Amino acid sequence: MDGERPLDPSRAAAAEAFLESLAELGLDRLPRAVHQPAEAPESTESEVAEPGPRLEQLNARIEACRLCALGETRRCSVPGEGSARARVMFVGEAPGAQEDASGRPFVGPAGQLLTKIIENGMGLSREEVFIANVLKCRPPQNRDPQTEEKKLCTPFLQEQMEIIAPELVIALGKHAANHLLGRESSLGRLRGRLHQPAQGGPPVLATYHPAYLLRNPADKRACWQDIQMGMDHLGLKRPSRASGGQTGTPTPAPPSQENGRPQEGKHRW
Ligand code: SF4
Repeated sequence: MDGERPLDPSRAAAAEAFLESLAELGLDRLPRAVHQPAEAPESTESEVAEPGPRLEQLNARIEACRLCALGETRRCSVPGEGSARARVMFVGEAPGAQEDASGRPFVGPAGQLLTKIIENGMGLSREEVFIANVLKCRPPQNRDPQTEEKKLCTPFLQEQMEIIAPELVIALGKHAANHLLGRESSLGRLRGRLHQPAQGGPPVLATYHPAYLLRNPADKRACWQDIQMGMDHLGLKRPSRASGGQTGTPTPAPPSQENGRPQEGKHRW
């Protein structure tokens, strides 16, 4: 139990002597630093370490980039968009004409299909995921990216992945998948399973590019199988046929699989 204790006469004398010495120095109280903790220093480092500000800084660097010739021919750079804490990141090959004009990824017809896959299929919003491309500037006339362009631009994508630290990367199309996996394979050989990149990082799931699906809608079914595999990896609930497609809720138990592949369900996009 706390209570006032009688003051030790010798300690009282010492305190009195100490106060007298302060008075001789012209001080009538203890200096602030002696009895109050110093104020915490401003922590600018932790702010910079936040994914949002780091992505903004990276976007500014991409906007200013002229490392390859595409920096001279682009209208807008297209760094990517979405949540800085996204659990899943979609990566395509390069921006097209509408993306070049707007500075946003996947906004044309293929982008609208990707949005339906994310929203109607996965039960997520575009704002919850992150969407980017390997190249941040549009190649003229939508030609294939050159090796040197990809080499120069890849560090930006790597930095995005490092900042966001997604649990899954979905590569859209053969070119993005091969680039992310450091391979040269057909999409048929790459899709339908999770790959662990040799250089580390999150697993990569390869599937069809939405632009291809617009030309080949019969392959939407196979793409939906891939997407459901990704949903299983993320613990997202698959749409039930009776629920009208309400998805996106994490669930601890993955749905049943058949022959190592997810059970098929009708896609809603
Ligand atoms: S494509 Fe990449 S490397 Fe080339 S200018 Fe654009 S941001 Fe820079």
